[in-house]
Parts: sequence; structure tokens; C-alpha cells
Amino acid sequence: MIYLKTREEIELMRESALLVSRTLGLIAAEIKPGVTPLYLDKLAEEYIRSNGGIPAFKGYQGAHGPFPATLCISINEEVVHGIPKDKPLLEGDIISVDCGVKKNGFFGDHAYSFAVGEIKEELKKLLQVTKECLYKGIEQMVSGNRIGDISYAIQQHAEKNGYGVVRELVGHGLGKNLHEEPEVPNYGSRGNGPKIKEGLVLAIEPMINLGKKNVKQLNDGWSIVTADGLPSAHFEHDVAIIDGKPEILSSFAFVEEALNKK
Ligand code: MG
Ligand code: MG
Repeated sequence: MIYLKTREEIELMRESALLVSRTLGLIAAEIKPGVTPLYLDKLAEEYIRSNGGIPAFKGYQGAHGPFPATLCISINEEVVHGIPKDKPLLEGDIISVDCGVKKNGFFGDHAYSFAVGEIKEELKKLLQVTKECLYKGIEQMVSGNRIGDISYAIQQHAEKNGYGVVRELVGHGLGKNLHEEPEVPNYGSRGNGPKIKEGLVLAIEPMINLGKKNVKQLNDGWSIVTADGLPSAHFEHDVAIIDGKPEILSSFAFVEEALNKK
């Protein structure tokens, strides 16, 4: 069942989304070689709790038990759901930082992929194109279109650039639950899937691999990695349909401000 949101509910969701956005901004300022993902995770948890939110991923039940952290930090060949560890980040790494909060009964959930220090040109391009995929998907989120129009736009842009599009993990509806219907695959065909209607709120999240599309899960029960060991990138926004058009409730402005100061 797809839960469409009222304007009032969307405003509450914007608050939850922006708490995630500000948390990612705080993390962006701290990312550099030598810093540990575990340290970033502690910062995020303190910030979320001191701003009236609850970390949404911590304790989230998976097939093999609860997720242990506030952030999913996925490094290089890790696609998503990486568990923050105390091993320092290295110059040249790329990391996806995914963050979820619950505030006022509603969830915010989005992600940004970062460079650690200087990275190779091919990785800069992977980050750039994955972010472009996200915005190309969002452009298609208009009343009357279908979910497949979003999926198609993302897949086309990624594959045009020679990248692999992850199939096993998808975007999703967002609201009083962290994951609601409909699923939002990053691959698909135009005119397929549920219709996009006023009040729909989606977390759109392309996961794009430098190499092939295939992924596998590590023995920790969470981390998803590319099968060929090549790097992967991930960007996510929370988007609502207002007056038939997509409005991005989350914001990368806090992240970009922090990165510009570096
Ligand atoms: Mg997420
Ligand atoms: Mg998500």
C-alpha cells in the first residue's frame, strides 16, 4: 500500500530530511585521511540525538540481526550498508555515507558519496555521474509519470557512461516507515510501475558501479560489495510531489558548503 502524504505531513518530513542533511554536512567537514568511520558515526549519533531525532538505522532489524550503527559507511568496493569501523580512511578512498533519522514520527533517509583526499579521475567521474543519475531520476518524478520513468532515466545515464547499475537494492517510499511502497529500482522501462501522484514521497538512491552490476553480501550480514571488487558510488535524496512536481525535501547544501571550505 502506498501512503500519500498531506502538506502538513510533508512539512514534518522536510524537518526529518533536513536533520539528516545537516548531519551529513557535519560529517563532510570531518572526512579526511586518518579519520575513522567509527568516529564519524559517534559524531552523527550525538548530533541527531541533541537535535530531537533518533538514529533510524541503529537497531534496524536485518536478516542476521540489528544494524549496530547510526551511519552506513561504505568504502570503495562496498556499495551500501557498510558498518563503521575503527580502521582509518585512506587518501584516494571514496565513501558513501548514508544516514537515517526519525523525528516527529517521520523518517528522513539520504546519502552522499565523498572523496577522501585526492582521488583518481575515474573515481571523480563515477561520483559525478552517480549524482547526475539521481537528479535525472528526480526530473521524472512528476504527477502522471510512473516509477519506471524514474528507473529508466537513472539506468540510461549510468549505462551510457559504461557503469553497472545495481539490481538487488532499490529506492523506496518514505514516511512513518523507513521503507514503504513503492520500490524504486534504478533500472527499468518507461511507462511501467505505479503511477506517481500528489503527496508521494520517495527516497531515490542510485547505486552505480564502476565495473559490472553484480554485488554480493559479506559475512557480517550487512555490507554489500561489488562482485568484481571495483568501486561503487551512492547518492540519495528524499523527494515529495507537491503541485504535481518534485520537491527535494533533503539538501546537499550543507555538505557542499563544508566541502567548499576545505
Ligand atoms: Mg539511505
Ligand atoms: Mg534509502
